[in-house]
Formats: sequence, structure tokens, C-alpha cells
Amino acid sequence: MYLGVDYYPEHWPKEMMKQDIQGIKGLGANMVRIGEFAWHLMEKEEGQFDFSFFDEVIAELKKEGFSVMFGTPTATFPAWLANKYPDILSEDENGNVRVFGGRRQYCFNSDVYRKYSAIITQKLVEHYRDEEAIVAWQIDNEFGHEGSDMCYCEQCHRGFQSFLKKKYNSIDELNERWGTIFWGQTYNEFTEIPIPKPTITTHNPALKLAWARFRSESVNSYAHEMTAIVHDAKGSHQRVTTNVSGGFFGKWFDHAENVKTMDFVSYDNYPVWGGLEKPIAPSAIAMAHDFNRGLLDKNYWIVEELMGAQGHDVIGYLPRPNQAKMWSYQAFAHGCTDMLYFRWRGMTKGAEQFCFGVVDHDNRYGRKYEEVKSVFTDISQYENVLNSEIQAEIAIIYDYNNIWSWRSQQQSAGFDFTVELLRLYEPFFNQNASIDVIPVDRDFAKYKVIVVPVLQLIDEKLAARFREFAENGGTLIFSYRAGLKDSDNNIYLGKTLPGYIADITGIEIYETESLSSTQTVEIVNDETGKRAELSVWRDLITPKTASVLYRYDDEFYRSSAAVTKNDFGKGTVYYIGGGVGSDVLNEIASEILETREIWHLETSEDLEVYRRILDGEEYFFVMNHSSEKMTFREELVPPFASKVIKGSL
Ligand SMILES: [Zn+2]
Repeated sequence: MYLGVDYYPEHWPKEMMKQDIQGIKGLGANMVRIGEFAWHLMEKEEGQFDFSFFDEVIAELKKEGFSVMFGTPTATFPAWLANKYPDILSEDENGNVRVFGGRRQYCFNSDVYRKYSAIITQKLVEHYRDEEAIVAWQIDNEFGHEGSDMCYCEQCHRGFQSFLKKKYNSIDELNERWGTIFWGQTYNEFTEIPIPKPTITTHNPALKLAWARFRSESVNSYAHEMTAIVHDAKGSHQRVTTNVSGGFFGKWFDHAENVKTMDFVSYDNYPVWGGLEKPIAPSAIAMAHDFNRGLLDKNYWIVEELMGAQGHDVIGYLPRPNQAKMWSYQAFAHGCTDMLYFRWRGMTKGAEQFCFGVVDHDNRYGRKYEEVKSVFTDISQYENVLNSEIQAEIAIIYDYNNIWSWRSQQQSAGFDFTVELLRLYEPFFNQNASIDVIPVDRDFAKYKVIVVPVLQLIDEKLAARFREFAENGGTLIFSYRAGLKDSDNNIYLGKTLPGYIADITGIEIYETESLSSTQTVEIVNDETGKRAELSVWRDLITPKTASVLYRYDDEFYRSSAAVTKNDFGKGTVYYIGGGVGSDVLNEIASEILETREIWHLETSEDLEVYRRILDGEEYFFVMNHSSEKMTFREELVPPFASKVIKGSL
């Protein structure tokens, strides 16, 4: 297995390199990642390629037995390129050009940028195709991060019009499908179609979804072009990846599509960053791992694992002693096989001065150095366990088209897609069950439970897949707004909600209400008398064949259901009519885990236990996410501690 750090030897005086390599070796590391922002160092002037700096670095690393992941440098281009070809720079929605400086400010639809990216990528990979130390290529760096997947320049505008021309047989078809008759927006020519820059009120929802799909194609066609170049030019011992950044549901490209031609997925894991006073919830960190494992449906790497505090201008929470180690264990538990820490040493100059590393600016090998060393020593003995396949029986599904549909119209001020996905993920996470987070087009058949958060876009074909899954005995959970829209982002005519899944959910919905971000309504279970709160949105449900688990308890709506359960075929279909609180959802999850006989384990809050199985033996990865002492099977788990405990299967 590969363990190591991200190292930027070009940031430091050359005479420090030997000592740094010794220091990295002292961690027990065997890999460094280099090169991903160093285009200018490889091509100081147009066409003048020089890889001698990295030749020397790699020679030094090889002497100490290191392997290398090399990043293609296209996430930051040289100043001369921007100066010579200003059209490569992307534009924001107000037409402001993103000037040279910062990073990732290129336009994915710039032919010039594609040409120069292709050349540097090709030259670099050809130069090192026979280099045995380089075992992996990373394409670009954090595609689409920090808003870089959005550009409103003229090239993108023309590209969007050509994209539409290919998607629709005629302008009349587009007019019909988009409903441009509304507000008299009918187009005579594709060249009349705008991009959704600021206007009075808002753009047509169908145009907004088409624009999102075009953005996705822009990012992904660039990524695929670069990936193909690397695949063609590389040595057969070298594999290809890219590093996925956090906040993936807020991005304008389909991530599974992005990585589909790569050999493995890498993820940059930052449970806390600039400005946050505390880390994101353990469930949110875990969900990100499950999402990355789901992209290619196999285990993955982490190529940036946080060790110190992070921030560009504003710095965030300092991970407590052993907390970053615990996050590493959590990553390994959820399917990470190889790990690199970001970064070897905090940089004294440049925009990331406050991204602290394994070693800080004072170059002292201190507490964090020892912590990384202990991770590498301890985890190495579980290499086979880490490489074992995770077989989850629960899948939570998402569709980027649906996410973009929600982004085009938030509907409730309290709505956030990631929150809604986590709302249904957490009840199973809380009981330590294994969960896959996968795109909607994957095969459902291998799962016992499919969880479907806020899926507005459901057509007849997809509904048939859900129906088949339920008929065959599967358990489904839908949450509100399911089945509202077609693939053009339009509402179905003459169809009662929840559209094509009305039969399997056994309900009908005639009225709905958007709740403000501070508003809650009360719901009640008539059998147990239990009361709970619901927020964000409410579907006022009329049960047909479904039974009522909770109903509303406010004036006018006491006869409407809020949460229902329906037997369909051999299976069961739940419908959650709004932003239901965790108490109710934990109850439903418990019922499902018991009846479907899915492995789970009750633990104290913030004590996560992830079960892996290898050769008939079970291994519990135990992570204490809190600053309190805990115990697991009579073993003490100190604050922020993590360990692997062998079970007794
Ligand atoms: Zn552009």
C-alpha cells in the first residue's frame, strides 16, 4: 500500500530536499505526490519544455525507495499563456473576467486552453512513461472546485447553443419542450438563446437545467480529453486518477461521468477548513467517503488528508491531538486503501500560507509528525482488510440532474440537497450500518434497501425500476417532492403526485406547502402518541393503500398523512412527506434494519464502528468523534481515539 505526503520541492531551497526526503521517510512513507501546480517550471516559455527539475527530484526520491504520484499541471497555467491568449480566462455571471492569479480560472470551452493543456500533458507523460518510480498520474487538480466549473464567457455561450442544436432536432422542438410560449420567449434560431446570466426575475427552468447539463459536459469532455492523452502516452505500470474535492453536490458536473475512464478515484478529505469553528458532522464526513467509493463502485485513495488547520485567508479549527488520525481511520474504514497527507510542510509564501502541514513553517518535527508516523505504522498491518470489498446492503441514490433541478428552483428557503440526503443517510449511519452512495443508474438488485432523497425527476422508466425492486421484495424510502417533474424540468400535466410512483407508494398528494427556513409543523403518531417536528417542506398526503405512520396535527390538515408505509409486491415502500426530524427517521431505520436483517450496531452518539470482513473474520474500525471517553466491548476508547478491534465471527 502507498502511504505518504504531498510534497512541493519547488517551494523550498534546493538544499533542503535531501533532508525533507529523509524526514518524509522517517514517517514510514513510501510515496510522495508532486507536480500538480508546476506548469511554468516545465514550460517557462511557449514550447520550451524542461523537466530537469523533476528529473532530479525523482532521482533523489528513488534513492530512498519512494514511488511517485505525478499531477498534470493544468489547474494552474503560466502567466505568459494568459497574457498571450486572454480568451482562456473564464468569466463570472456579471461578465467579470477572472484575472490571472488564484487558480483554476480557465474556461473549459476555450479551444486554446484545450490545445495548450493537451500539449503539456502529452509532453510530461511521454517524458516519464518509462519512469518506474511514477506509478500514478493525477489528472489536473480538483476539477470544478471553488466555482471554477461555471463560466459565462462568449465561448461558453456559443458552445451552449451548439450543444442545444445537437440535443434537439429543431428549434421548434426546443420551444415546445421548454415551453417558451410562456412570457413570449419563443426562439426563431438557436443563436437567439441566452445563457442564464442575471435578468429580471428568473430564467426558464428547462433552460437552467439544460445549462447545467452543458456545464457538466464542458468539464467532463475536457477531463476525458486529458485522461485519454495520459492513457495513450503513459507506461503500462502507471495508473490514472483525479482528486475529487469536497462539496461535490454543489458542483456543476456529474462526478461519476467525470471519473469513468480513470483507473481509480482519489479524494481530498478535509473534515474542517477555513472559518469553521468545528468539524462537519461525522455522518457528513462518512457520507463523502461512501460517495467517493460509489463513483467507480470500488475502494479509492485519499491524496489529500488533512493533518493541520486549514484556510486561505481565514483559518479554521485546529484538529485536536489524534483527531486527524481518527479521520484517517474513518477513511480507511469506509474503503480508502492508500493515503497521502496534505502537505509535507506549511508554505511560508503564497496563497496557502495558512494550510498547515505535517510539519509547520518552523520545520520542527513535532506532534503532528508523530501522529502521521503512528497512522502509517498501525494501519500497515491491516492492508488486506483495507483492500477487501465493502458489500453494503443499503444504497442511497442521487442524480445530478435532480440536484441541478433543485438548484434551478430551491422552492423552500430551508432547502439544501446535501442536508436532505444526510437526513436519510444519518439514521442508518447512526446504527453503524454500511451504506453505498451511488448514482441512480446503478443496478438496484444487489441491495435490500434503496433510499431516494427528494428525487423530483422520475420518468416512467425509472419508476419501473423502482417498481421491480419493490415487487421483488426490496425496501424503498422516498422523501418529499418525489416524482414531480420530467427530464426537461417541467411538471407533469394531468398527473397526481407523486407521479409515476403513486402506485408503489400507495398515496396521492393533492396539496403541498413550502415552509420557511424557521418554520416547523407538528406531526403525530396516533398509535404511540409520539409527536415530532417537520420542517422545510410538507406534502399533504392522502393514503390510498398505504398505512399512516405520522399525520399532521395542525388545524385544517389533521386528516393528511406526513409519513406513510405501503406494502407493494413482496416489498415495502416508505414515503417521508417533509423534513422529518431524526427521532422519527431513527425509528424507521431501526425497523428496517431489524426486519431486513441488515448488520448494525447500537453505539453511543459519536462513537462510530465500521465493520469490515476478510476471510470470514470481522474487523471493527472504532472511531471516537468526541472529546469524551467512550468504551467499545469493554475496551476504553479515549477522546478522538481510533483503533481496529478484531471481532469474533
Ligand atoms: Zn467560458
